[in-house]
Amino acid sequence: MADLKKLADLLYPDCKLTIEDVEKKFPKRNIKDGACITRLAPSPTGFVHLGNLFPAVTCERLSHQSGGVFILRIEDTDQKREVEGAVEILLSSLERYNIIFDEGATASGEKGDYGPYYQRQRAEIYQAVAKKLISEGRAYPCFCSEQKLEDMRKAQEQNKENFGYYGKYASCRNLSYEEIEEKINNGEKFVLRFRSEGDPSKMDGIVDLIKGKLTFPENDIDHVMLKSDGIPTYHFAHAVDDHYMGTTHVVRGEEWLSTLPFHVQLFRALGFALPHYMHVAQLMKLDNGTKRKLSKRKDPEASLSYYYDQGFSANSVMEYIMTLLNSNFEEWRIENPTAPIDDFKFSADKMSVSGCLFDMDKLIDVSRNAISVMTADEVYSQVTAWAKDNDSELYNKLSENREYAIKIFSIGRGGEKPRKDIAKWNEVKDYVSFFYDDLFVQSGEFPENVTYEDRIEILSRYKDIYDSADDQQTWFNKVTELAESLGFAPKTKLYKKDPDAYKGHVGDVSMVLRVAITGRRNSPDLYEIMKILGADKVRERLESAK
Ligand code: GLU
Repeated sequence: MADLKKLADLLYPDCKLTIEDVEKKFPKRNIKDGACITRLAPSPTGFVHLGNLFPAVTCERLSHQSGGVFILRIEDTDQKREVEGAVEILLSSLERYNIIFDEGATASGEKGDYGPYYQRQRAEIYQAVAKKLISEGRAYPCFCSEQKLEDMRKAQEQNKENFGYYGKYASCRNLSYEEIEEKINNGEKFVLRFRSEGDPSKMDGIVDLIKGKLTFPENDIDHVMLKSDGIPTYHFAHAVDDHYMGTTHVVRGEEWLSTLPFHVQLFRALGFALPHYMHVAQLMKLDNGTKRKLSKRKDPEASLSYYYDQGFSANSVMEYIMTLLNSNFEEWRIENPTAPIDDFKFSADKMSVSGCLFDMDKLIDVSRNAISVMTADEVYSQVTAWAKDNDSELYNKLSENREYAIKIFSIGRGGEKPRKDIAKWNEVKDYVSFFYDDLFVQSGEFPENVTYEDRIEILSRYKDIYDSADDQQTWFNKVTELAESLGFAPKTKLYKKDPDAYKGHVGDVSMVLRVAITGRRNSPDLYEIMKILGADKVRERLESAK
């Protein structure tokens, strides 16, 4: 034992922090019963994957629903992948989705009592904990070269054995203190390995809050805990940080399942209580009929920024993420169409166990619904905020006259069956274009079954009877009378019964007016549009249409 203590000091002479200091530095949190402490632990790569929203939303909901704490910890142990400004990018991307941290890294530094929240700054903490394991004989230095490890791998491949540093391959396991000292004096570099006591013929297991009961053979691989620069691997940092930060729920991607046996073993060796694990399903997409992971390299829609750039409202994306995350969300939404999303009770046991299929059409559908129940004010403020960064022409038009724009967005809104014209903000310009002379385009797509002569007749006669003060019924009656006087059926039904008796029906006449005024065949209610455009503009359009 004395030797082991000596070994710990030999390996990490600069680490003066003791395990007692660490324990004192991170006292147990004073939280109320049932409060969840969760954390997001991204690497600062500057890329935020749509899939990151899964753990992020899960952690945010669990902690904030329960009166707990949500932490942002930056896993910057791999400096090669680090990108400057990554934390700011992450914070601002998540903020758009209302994902706000209580503790941890911030744009200007960090906040909270359980830091540092950047792993590289915690090096001494990991080393202090590692020294405890060394002095208990549960960790040892390994001096094996890259070449040696490569040869080991080849031999294992040839012998059809499991890969890894274990059993007869773990040659540094039994080095004596003197041998180690000599290597260190020779300047040889080492990594610190865990001394596994696991026996793969025995089964171990935990209950995952999403996946349910998980069983697995005990781990027998002596995984690396600290790299040669004294910086931890993910595994060791996970155990140390989540224990000392008081994480109650570890929510992470299911790609970590394969190393879970080691994590469980490590927590036990350290005498730490296991947190609740929640392994979140990965986002998949259908590619030519086969399911595959949504890939950062191949799929632009894998990036969270894609949704903002494309003009998806953050509410819409959240609604969709929620439908993927909790199987009862859609039902809840139908029952509570306008309730704030945070009123939904998020629960771990409603989460999808296997891969989640990402479906763009479904997102668009969800988005149409989400936007259809927003108020015109809300739509206005979200569109202008988006346009400010992405479409200055649209931005200028909308901000020139707020009241006018609000009227446009009010069309078909607020009733039992709201219109669902807009799925993304980048569709708004086209949608509103005919309300603005500079954006208006006359497609000339008048109905084919109305002759040129009749069209001219409709337009000029209508101009004479049009009165901007008419109510909707009067407006409609006038169009019907005009239709009838020109030989069009006043009702579609009449026309269908006896098509030879008419030139067409009232719908054809109003289509001529619609195309003249809006430039297109598809538009919301024409009466409302004309009200908003006002008499002068309507007359101008009727006159210029041919
Ligand atoms: N840095 C890890 C990742 O981004 C964190 C996993 C975890 O949450 O523990 O996958």
